[in-house]
Amino acid sequence: MREPTEEEIKNVIMPLMLSGAKMLDRHCPKCGSPLFEKDGRVFCPVCEYRAKKQMGEVDDVKGILMKKLVEIANSLPGDPEEMEKHLRVMERIIDVLRKYKELEG
Ligand SMILES: [Zn+2]
Repeated sequence: MREPTEEEIKNVIMPLMLSGAKMLDRHCPKCGSPLFEKDGRVFCPVCEYRAKKQMGEVDDVKGILMKKLVEIANSLPGDPEEMEKHLRVMERIIDVLRKYKELEG
């Protein structure tokens, strides 16, 4: 994994230092950020931040797919052949959504 970017240092590490979390002289084996200790818990703020951000992105993907699904459902054509195509796309979207759900457990 890459090391913390300037943005991450500014948005994640700095506020943490100001909040009174203790910066340890150990570093995260994954990203090289200094590890912090707060309420007896040692953690890497950068990896936690990235994990959260990634979850957010997954939610966005779901949101986009759901929106598309509604869009297609709202614009189903009368022609049976065309409608069949639309329904197939909807099926695919639902498939992907289901797989995302499985990924999330
Ligand atoms: Zn890390």
